[in-house]
Amino acid sequence: MNGERKVRIAGVATDSVVDGPGIRSVVFFQGCPHQCPGCHNPETWRSDGGSEISLPELVRRLNLNPLVAGVTFSGGEPFLQAPAAAELGKYLREQGLSLWVYTGYTWEDLLTKIYRPGYKELLEITEVLIDGPFIREEVDLRLLFRGSANQRMIRVVESLDAGTIIPWRPGADDHYGLG
Ligand code: SF4
Repeated sequence: MNGERKVRIAGVATDSVVDGPGIRSVVFFQGCPHQCPGCHNPETWRSDGGSEISLPELVRRLNLNPLVAGVTFSGGEPFLQAPAAAELGKYLREQGLSLWVYTGYTWEDLLTKIYRPGYKELLEITEVLIDGPFIREEVDLRLLFRGSANQRMIRVVESLDAGTIIPWRPGADDHYGLG
């Protein structure tokens, strides 16, 4: 991992159980172009907000103890900083950790942007992608790990291989994503 590379974050969380299966650490990336009405984190929208942090320092703040099953990238929009996010994600996967990523882009939209720096690399190391903007009219408090019903939990590598979306299914795929 490049110790010189920096990433701009809104913050981190540890011991989360609402951002994917198991106990997870979460990186909230700074900067979001989607501006969903009803967004719970509007302070993450500005690309010049939050704070810059080196990747090694960010890893230290994630408190990756043996109880942590994985890391979740949230936001903000992680793909705005795809090269740094991909480098961090690759390091985390090499440590045996699961990686889930939230994006405000839809799966179909992301595939049209795959040529952008770091997008393909970040997608290919993501186990499960939760896609799409937050849509207030589709809020359902019963949804697992998602805010609105339009958002899908997508098994990325399987979906890329199949050329169609393969969903992550709570229950049947509970083991999946635990590192
Ligand atoms: S994608 Fe997420 S962070 Fe960005 S505006 Fe929508 S809900 Fe907020």
